[in-house]
Amino acid sequence: MKRIAVFTSGGDAPGMNAHVRAIERTAEKRGVETIGIVGGYSGMLNGHFELLDRIRTANILDRGGTILKTSRCPEFHDADQRAAAVQQLRKHGIDGVVACGGDGTFHGAHLLHVEHGIRIVGTPGTIDNDLFGTDYTIGYDTAINTAAVAIDRIRDTADSHGRVFFVEVMGRHAGFIAMDVGVACGAEYVAVPETLTDVEVLYERIVTQGLDKRTVVIVGEGDESGGAMQLAQRLESRYGIAPKVTILGHVQRGGAPTVRDRVLAARLGAAAVDALLEGQSDVMVGQAGPDLTYVPLEATWETHKAVPSYLIDLSTLLV
Ligand code: ADP
Repeated sequence: MKRIAVFTSGGDAPGMNAHVRAIERTAEKRGVETIGIVGGYSGMLNGHFELLDRIRTANILDRGGTILKTSRCPEFHDADQRAAAVQQLRKHGIDGVVACGGDGTFHGAHLLHVEHGIRIVGTPGTIDNDLFGTDYTIGYDTAINTAAVAIDRIRDTADSHGRVFFVEVMGRHAGFIAMDVGVACGAEYVAVPETLTDVEVLYERIVTQGLDKRTVVIVGEGDESGGAMQLAQRLESRYGIAPKVTILGHVQRGGAPTVRDRVLAARLGAAAVDALLEGQSDVMVGQAGPDLTYVPLEATWETHKAVPSYLIDLSTLLV
C-alpha cells in the first residue's frame, strides 16, 4: 500500500480532527501517503482530494468540527454515482480508505467494498454513540460534557424561579446522551426511545418535587413522544403545567474535544491504518473495554446497541 484516503461524513463530531491527524501520522510512519477527501461522499464524487502531511495536520488536534468538512450526499444511494466515485479513487491511486462517520456512512462504505472491492475501514465518528461494536464513538464524550454544562446552567435558573424545564438533547434513534446526562445532572425524569414515556408518571414526579420547585426533565430527540416541545404540550393540555422548553441542538456537536475523545480518536485512527495495511476491509474499528474491536460494517447497524440498563435504573432510583 502506497496511498490511503480518509474522509469524514454525516454529522460532524468533536475529535474528527484528532482522528485525521492520527491517521496521517500513522500512515507517514508506515511509509504510506495520506489523501484527505474533502466533503465526505460529495468530495469523493467530485474528486475533491488533497494531500495531507504533518504540516496540514498540525494544530488541529484540539479543534472541533472537521478540517476535511462533511456532507450529506443523497447521490451516493445511486449505484452509478458510487461507480463514478470509485473511478475517482482509482484515478488518484488510492489503495485503501478510512471512512469516519455513522451508520449512513458505513452503508456507503459497505457498498463500495461489495460492489467494487474497495478496501475500506470504518471508524465510529458520531456524537450519538449508537453504533454496535464499540463502547463509545468519537465525539460522544465531548457532546455529553457540553450538554451537562448547559443543563447545569438551566438547572440554576429553574431552581431560582421554581420552574419546570424540559431540555431536549440529541440522539435520533437512541437515548445514550439523554440517559448519561440525565444521571449526571440529576434530572427528575429522562424520556428516551428505549423506555415508554408516561405523562402521568412525569406529572407525578413534578408534583412530588413540588409544583413551586424546580424540575428538570431531559428529553432525547428520538423519544417516541416526538421531542421536548410535543411532550411539553401534552403535559400542558392534560395538567395545565406549561414547562419552559430548551432544545440544545447543535451546540452539542461543536467545541474542543475532551481528552477521552482525543485519545479514542487517536487510537482508532492508528488502528484503522494498521487494519488497512493488514488487508482488512468492510469492518469498523472500535474499542470495547481496553481492547480494539473489528466488527463487520453490516453488524454495526444490524445489531442493536442497547443503552446500559444500569443507567436506566439509576435514572429512576436517584430521583
Ligand atoms: P451518518 O454517517 O452520521 O449516519 P448519514 O446518515 O447522513 O450520516 O449518512 C452519511 C452519508 O452516507 C449520506 O449522506 C450518504 O451519502 C451516505 N449513505 C447513507 N446511507 C446510504 C445508503 N443506504 N447507501 C449508500 N450511501 C449511503
